[in-house]
Amino acid sequence: MKKNLSLYVHIPFCVHKCAYCDFLSFENRNLTDHMQYITALCNEISMYKPFADRYTVKTIYIGGGTPSVLDEVMIESILNTISNVFQVDRFPEITIEVNPGTIKYSNLLKYAEYGVNRVSIGMQSADDRILKNLGRIHNFEQFVEGYNDVRRAGFKNINVDIMSGVPGQTIHSFVDTLTRVTELKPEHISVYSLQVEEGTPLSENQELLRLIPDEETDRQMYAMTKKVLAACGYKRYEISNYSQPGYESRHNSVYWTGGEYIGFGLGAASYFKGERFSNIKDIEIYNRICEDVREAITGNADPFKLYESAASRLRTSTETMYIDSRIEEYMFLGLRMMAGVSRKEFRLRFNKDMYEVYGPVINKYVDEGYMETDGDRVWLTDRGIDVSNYILSDFILDR
Ligand code: SF4
Repeated sequence: MKKNLSLYVHIPFCVHKCAYCDFLSFENRNLTDHMQYITALCNEISMYKPFADRYTVKTIYIGGGTPSVLDEVMIESILNTISNVFQVDRFPEITIEVNPGTIKYSNLLKYAEYGVNRVSIGMQSADDRILKNLGRIHNFEQFVEGYNDVRRAGFKNINVDIMSGVPGQTIHSFVDTLTRVTELKPEHISVYSLQVEEGTPLSENQELLRLIPDEETDRQMYAMTKKVLAACGYKRYEISNYSQPGYESRHNSVYWTGGEYIGFGLGAASYFKGERFSNIKDIEIYNRICEDVREAITGNADPFKLYESAASRLRTSTETMYIDSRIEEYMFLGLRMMAGVSRKEFRLRFNKDMYEVYGPVINKYVDEGYMETDGDRVWLTDRGIDVSNYILSDFILDR
């Protein structure tokens, strides 16, 4: 029987770098740079051919960066290459991330034609002053226009990303953002709290840093998120993710439930064949290695040998996931989901009883009201989620 697989495709290009961003992306690159990279990316996808017939691809996520800066035919090339190499399920979830500053209606129609059926829009805030503080390239009006274009192009599954705890944000402006987004009725909303990452322009801008809301305000925003979104019919199914019933992100759920996925492109992370690995982050070297892959494929090189040699050059580190790390990760990620983890699934996956491994710690947190259980599933309560970092650290196994 074929195994399920998810694919992530990284597009490391943006129009302009946002002040808080430490994602792997380059601003202001030209068409030639885009073309070179997409050719490389397609070659990387092709090198997985020898393993492809063991899998059915259930979800594809084209993220970045800003995939919508690309010429739409490049999105077509990526998806065509994937379906030439892999067997894609009849009803896959295929997501593309777009930035409101680069949405084009004609491109949206093309995405739909290529099979994309979910669009994720980075809105972040409805307050133009805040968008400016964040260095975003769009204002709220452009977001609304872009959102309406996505709907008009026929997409029935839209996610909107929002940020909390950003410079200049008040409870009032945050709630206003939530309200305006819910009025548009996207199927899915992700709300992430700002992390100030070292080396970003924001981390060096004292004026903006002073405008970041204090911890108490941040906590209130967190509480308001659940309240406002629940009142509008959105259910929290993961710490930062809310959806209308049936619209949970299938792709992200694969990450949270320990499923296999391959990340293609610069710096992309994978969990494949029991190994966790990430690609290199130097675009020149990445392009060169993938060009060698193309030459080897055209030269009829042994596909397994080709894969081994290209993989060893493309990856920065490969970690074989031994049982203890897999168990820990299953718990850390699984407990981020409101449905929690299942004792039955745990046994099937690890051939062990969850209570044999974690009985005392689960019982302790259930007694203290931080966790609940129905005999099979175990999940964090609202109180537990508030201190999840602390609780999850108790799930690290002694080695
Ligand atoms: S659009 Fe996204 S990836 Fe690009 S710079 Fe802004 S935050 Fe980073």
